[in-house]
Amino acid sequence: MRSNIKSYIMPTYGERKLEFIRGKGAYLYSNKNLKFLDFGSGIAVNSLGHCHPQLIKSLNNQSKKLWHTSNLYLNKNQEEYAKALCYNSFAEKVFFTNSGLESIECGIKIIRSFHKFHKNKEKKNIITFEGSFHGRSFSAMSAQKDKKNIKHFGPLLNGFIKIPFNNLAMLKKTIDSRTSAVLIETIQGEGGIRPTPIKFLKEIKRLCLKNNALLFLDEVQCGFGRTGKLFCYEWSKIEPDIMAVAKGIGSGFPFGACLSTSAASVGMSKGMHGSTFGGNPLAISVGRTVLNEIIKKNFMKNVNDVSTYLWSKLNELKKNYKEIIEIRGVGLMIGIKTKTNNLKFVDLLAQNYLLTVPAGDNVTRLIPPLVITKKEVDKAIKIITKVIKEIND
Ligand SMILES: *Cc1c(COP(=O)(O)O)cnc(C)c1O
Repeated sequence: MRSNIKSYIMPTYGERKLEFIRGKGAYLYSNKNLKFLDFGSGIAVNSLGHCHPQLIKSLNNQSKKLWHTSNLYLNKNQEEYAKALCYNSFAEKVFFTNSGLESIECGIKIIRSFHKFHKNKEKKNIITFEGSFHGRSFSAMSAQKDKKNIKHFGPLLNGFIKIPFNNLAMLKKTIDSRTSAVLIETIQGEGGIRPTPIKFLKEIKRLCLKNNALLFLDEVQCGFGRTGKLFCYEWSKIEPDIMAVAKGIGSGFPFGACLSTSAASVGMSKGMHGSTFGGNPLAISVGRTVLNEIIKKNFMKNVNDVSTYLWSKLNELKKNYKEIIEIRGVGLMIGIKTKTNNLKFVDLLAQNYLLTVPAGDNVTRLIPPLVITKKEVDKAIKIITKVIKEIND
C-alpha cells in the first residue's frame, strides 16, 4: 500500500466534496451541520425519506433475530412479501436481487429461457430504445445505446436492437418473428425524464402479443409509488410479462426484484438462477415495511396531492422565467430542462441547500422522497426561483 494517495476509492464518480452524516425525512445534514432539502433521494431511492421510524424499527428488530441464511433455506417472510408484491401487481413470480442491474439481468435470462423452453429457435433479439438506461452490467450496457460503453468495454453482447424512442414506425418495421422481447423504461430516468406515452406503450403491448414477444418493463426508477401509482404501468392499463424494480423498493436498503408472470418465467427452473444475498432477511424486513406504508390508503393520495401542487408551482415558474424550457415527468418524477447547463444548475441549487440530480438532455431531476409536504415544496420552489433570478442577473 502506498500512503501518499489522496483517495483509495476508484475515481469513477470523480471528486466528491459534499458529505452527509445524518438524515431525517426530506432533510440531509452535512459534516459541517448544514441542512439540505433532499429532492434527489439518493437517485430516487429514499422513497420514505431518511431514517423513517417504521423502517428503523423493522431493521432493528430483524437485526436482533437473523441476518442471513442463504436462499438454500425456506424464508416465510420472503414468501409472504413476494405474495404481497404479486397481489399488488400483474406478477405471479418474484426473484429477489440487490440492485437494478441484477433485476434487468434476471429479466433477460427469463426472456431467453422462455423462448428456449418453447423451442422458438428464431427468437434472437430484444428490442430496446435510444436514451434508455438499464444499468452497468454487460447485459444492461448491451441493451443501451451508448458509444462510451462500446469504446471502453467492448465487445458487448449480441441480441439487442436499439431503435429511436417513441417511434412507432420504426418499431413496426423492426419487430418481427425474430423478436424475443421489448425492453423499455416506463419513464426514461437517466435519459432525461421522458415518459413513454401511454399510446406508444399500448402499441408496444399489442405488437408484442402479435409477434409472440415478451414485454419487459424497467421500473427500477419509476416504480414503487413515485408516479402516484404503485407501479407506473398502471396508468396505461396494460400489463408487462416481466418487470424490473429496485431503487425505491427498500428506501435506502440495497434491494431489488424481478417480477414475472408464471407463463413468462416457465423456463426458470431449479438451478437456472440464483443470488447469495437477494431477498435476505434484512432486505425483506425493510421491503415489507416500505410496501405496507406505500399501499396505505392515504399514502398515494398524498403523493398525488403534493405532486399536483409541485407541478402547478413549477408551471408557474416556467410561465414567468424563460430559463425553464420544459417541465416533464409524472408525479414526483420530474425533469426540468433549463437553458443553463444542468450540471451548473444542480450545483447552484446545492449551493442554496437544495439537492437535485442531473439527467440526460440537460435535465435537472426533482425526485424527492414520496413523503414530502407542501411546506417542503414551497421551500424548494423558493430556492429554485432564487437560483433562476441569480442566473438572469
Ligand atoms: C438506476 C437504474 C438501473 C440500475 O440500477 P442499479 O441499482 O444502479 O444497478 C436500471 N434501470 C433504471 C431505469 C435505473 O434508473
